[in-house]
Amino acid sequence: MSAAPSSGSPAYEVDAQGWVAAARRLPTPNFEARPAGAVPTLIVVHNISLPPDTFGGPEIADLFLNRLDCDAHPYFDAHLRGVRVSAHFVIHRDGTLEQFVSCAQRAWHAGLSRFFGRERCNDFSIGIELEGSDTRAFEPAQYATLAPLVRALAAHYPIDALAGHSDIAPGRKTDPGPHFDWARLQRETQLGDAFFPYIHPPIANDERDASS
Ligand SMILES: [Zn+2]
Repeated sequence: MSAAPSSGSPAYEVDAQGWVAAARRLPTPNFEARPAGAVPTLIVVHNISLPPDTFGGPEIADLFLNRLDCDAHPYFDAHLRGVRVSAHFVIHRDGTLEQFVSCAQRAWHAGLSRFFGRERCNDFSIGIELEGSDTRAFEPAQYATLAPLVRALAAHYPIDALAGHSDIAPGRKTDPGPHFDWARLQRETQLGDAFFPYIHPPIANDERDASS
């Protein structure tokens, strides 16, 4: 896409196999091939913390690697037993970046979802999980990793939009939550308004007339 800036930091560049050098690589079996012809055009931003609102432990990676001890916490027992999920990336509170699935493959982060009428967002998206919750601000270090990652992804793939999980699964999902600063992400990535259709909705001509 012509509007996407080139990647600023070589460490975040996506290699030919869909991996990012800046990320600690933790390959999971929780992925599958994208449908024939599908390429990533959407970045989905999430938050996750395990247990909820608890940061710093190995539980997110353990979940994505199918080795979470579901007897260790009542929340895990109630919600995560037998669950097979993944995201392409996790950004921890200190900005550390992990990659679980090649961007060329389909990770299992969005679930039942719809982006402007197009369903099955996992088919055509890259999922980025920020370690966090709906109740707390994210750390500056997390934006400092997220922004160059998004820029690099947008330089490598025909990404034309970003969305929150709650945007594509409204009523079912609330992440990344009210504390995620979309304006900051846009400022730090220098991506145009069109990349943020939920923040800057395209205004149809008839709506413009009606509101004037
Ligand atoms: Zn999510």
